[in-house]
Amino acid sequence: MSSTADAYDDLLGRIERYSYLRDASMTLGWDQQVTMPEGGTPARARQTAALSTVAHDVIASEAVADRLDELADADLSGEQAAVVRETRRQHEEAARVPEELVEEISRTGAEAQELWQTAKAENDFEAFAPTLERIRELHVERAEHVDQQRDPYRVMYEGYEPALPLELVEDVFDQLRERLVPLIDELLDAADEADLAGLPDGEWDETTQMVLNREAVELLGYDFERGRLDTSPHPFTSGNQFDCRITTRVRPDDPLDALTATVHEYGHASYQLGLPQAEYGTPLGRPHWEIHESQSRFWENHVGRTRAFWELFAPTFNDHLGTELSPGELYEAANRLTPENLIRVEADELTYHMHVILRTEIERRFVSGELGVEEIPSVWNDLMEEYLGVRPDSDAEGCLQDIHWTGGFAGFQSYTVGSVLAAQLDAAMREDLDADVDALIREGEFDPLREWMTEHVHSHGKRYPADELIERATGEPLTAEYFLEYVERKFGDLYGL
Ligand code: ZN
Repeated sequence: MSSTADAYDDLLGRIERYSYLRDASMTLGWDQQVTMPEGGTPARARQTAALSTVAHDVIASEAVADRLDELADADLSGEQAAVVRETRRQHEEAARVPEELVEEISRTGAEAQELWQTAKAENDFEAFAPTLERIRELHVERAEHVDQQRDPYRVMYEGYEPALPLELVEDVFDQLRERLVPLIDELLDAADEADLAGLPDGEWDETTQMVLNREAVELLGYDFERGRLDTSPHPFTSGNQFDCRITTRVRPDDPLDALTATVHEYGHASYQLGLPQAEYGTPLGRPHWEIHESQSRFWENHVGRTRAFWELFAPTFNDHLGTELSPGELYEAANRLTPENLIRVEADELTYHMHVILRTEIERRFVSGELGVEEIPSVWNDLMEEYLGVRPDSDAEGCLQDIHWTGGFAGFQSYTVGSVLAAQLDAAMREDLDADVDALIREGEFDPLREWMTEHVHSHGKRYPADELIERATGEPLTAEYFLEYVERKFGDLYGL
């Protein structure tokens, strides 16, 4: 290429094409989980594998390698340098992994989703185990292609979020284990006396619950011109700044469960929809993985689980469900600890993190080969007993509960990092905003909250590495301190410690 500008433009066009292909593939994934008939799996698996191969060819190409060489010492703006940095990272990872392996990982993952659903429904881990072992082998092989010298688990982790060092995250986990386990014990001792309210026994049909869920996210500001709300076995968010869809799942006896999941997914969508539209397809218009979960947790916990929110939303809740609960009762019901619960996505704000720590431990040992696939169910159940004092009766409620392993390993830390970061962002926002945040929530004024997040987080895309973005938004590096202070204060008050 004759000039830096030409080389940069050429590179930009290629990274955009790569992003569009990945987004198309994501839409097929949404369709597979939300609307596709069961019989469609073999065709869908081949379609996504083909798209994945084409995307791989784009990002791993010689042309991209040449442009990156030409731009290595070029004089670039901050934004351009960020685009080159992110493209280089993805190129290097992709160029080192053979196409056939990429295709096999994609095909195996898609087929595994179907197998997982059946295995979970029939509580049959043995039927899923060979596929899970195959997924492990393929992902380890992939990690070895990326970097032969390093621990495959670390390579997998860095594929998700290279800017937050694994050591920093492990340090945060140690602090949580140290302070949460005794806190949970104390709270449980106080539980009988505190006698927190719960929902009355009852059944609410899916249509009723979905109307309520829709109203909740409309109130928070979800733009249905650029989004939609559906149901799927596992709630998720899929899309970009023009079209970002969310799903939830409904339990007839617990409308708070679906509502919380819906608000959580709305938080993910708010991040996607807050990314700059002009940068669609470039790294400046894409989200950070670790940051993503902070946005869902912020809306779920720091908005949806506050007393102020229930003062606003209780009448709507009661109207739709025919209940007569006070805001205080709903606030308590939304924040009751349920350590007997076995399912991560249904867990309360505190015990949730023990679920994540458990999975991370198992994943790490399984990936390294130290733990055989057949041992996973019993180790899972043992750790549940050790951390939360409960033992699953079935693998459907144990190690088969989540779909995530069909897509690989080492992404689970982000769930806990997200909560920790949400508390840090919440503290920074309250300090920053020239208004009482609880009063805003009570009045249904959610725009200032979302706008603060957009200004400090969403609008930057991947302009800054995740650790730098956290420091810019909050004035300090990631720390467990705000989260621990927040849960100690909130649950201490609720349980009268
Ligand atoms: Zn999430």
